[in-house]
Amino acid sequence: MISSRRTEIPCLHRIHDGDPTGYHRISHSIGMSIEINELKCRLRELNNNGIENGVDDHSILVTFDDGWSDVLQLSDFFEETEKLQPVLFLTREQILGNSSLLPLSRLYAWCDSWSINLDEIQHLGISRPALKSLSQELQHSILDDLGIPRSMVSGQVLTLVEVAELKQKGWIIASHAHDHHDLRFDDSEELLEGLSKARNEIVEFGGEPWLAWPEGRCTMRTCEIAKNAGFTKQFSLDVEAGHVNHPDLISRKIWS
Ligand SMILES: [Zn+2]
Repeated sequence: MISSRRTEIPCLHRIHDGDPTGYHRISHSIGMSIEINELKCRLRELNNNGIENGVDDHSILVTFDDGWSDVLQLSDFFEETEKLQPVLFLTREQILGNSSLLPLSRLYAWCDSWSINLDEIQHLGISRPALKSLSQELQHSILDDLGIPRSMVSGQVLTLVEVAELKQKGWIIASHAHDHHDLRFDDSEELLEGLSKARNEIVEFGGEPWLAWPEGRCTMRTCEIAKNAGFTKQFSLDVEAGHVNHPDLISRKIWS
């Protein structure tokens, strides 16, 4: 059967094997982690739909945000699924070789180490939505003030060697912006400057000039700025940017 529906573009973050444990448990509880076998099953289904619909090879994008090393579980998987094309969206710091945790991930890791549920963090005087609106550095400094350890290197984030191996296997590398926060309210001039830098760096890195908006959030104004910065494709999340109809914007769905 030929489906007239546009193919869904999955957005993936963490991937666990079996029951989620440790940090994966928190990620899973907020819909940011999926079980590896279930994921493979859904990806094969997506690939089969592509075969039935006669789409070009590597034309169905499967996207991964935030540079989690969990994706290594799929490093050879896409050799069997010719219609699918994996895309890895990395932050500016990640393509510069910094494999420490992003601020919110750092907070979740700390919560896990103390068996604290995410709904308890408001007692610390912080909230996830408030943190998302601040620059990465400000988010980190708030966590510093709370005495939450800043891990400089995390085995949970891809190293540049691992990124190079995935690239070698045909994965596309693209940009997750110059700073991982909700960029919708940033000053236009600063945003253009930051995104232009991110765009140039990802191309120098050997990636595509494509942008995944941090937190999946954007507006018509920010999409125009990203276009002016030289990005040729932009990606949002359907739950976060449902009403933005910019022609360069591609909506994705979080799989968990
Ligand atoms: Zn992200």
